[in-house]
Amino acid sequence: MTTETPLTCYICGLTSDDWRTVDMIGLFEEQKAARKRFKEKHGKEPDSYLFVCPECEEENPHHAENSYEKYGKYQ
Ligand SMILES: [Zn+2]
Repeated sequence: MTTETPLTCYICGLTSDDWRTVDMIGLFEEQKAARKRFKEKHGKEPDSYLFVCPECEEENPHHAENSYEKYGKYQ
């Protein structure tokens, strides 16, 4: 499973060309559940695959950790 599209941050809701992965590492495993919750949180469909961006991980490590615990993380 690979993706070369920009990624969307689950916490801040932004999508950036700077965030990419070719091997899914660091993304949520449960994309479907995370997308559903994202829609509730942000009031829109996520543009792309969901993960937690480095800025949010730094500013909000507990929220990031809880999210990855909930949705899993590709290692
Ligand atoms: Zn973010």
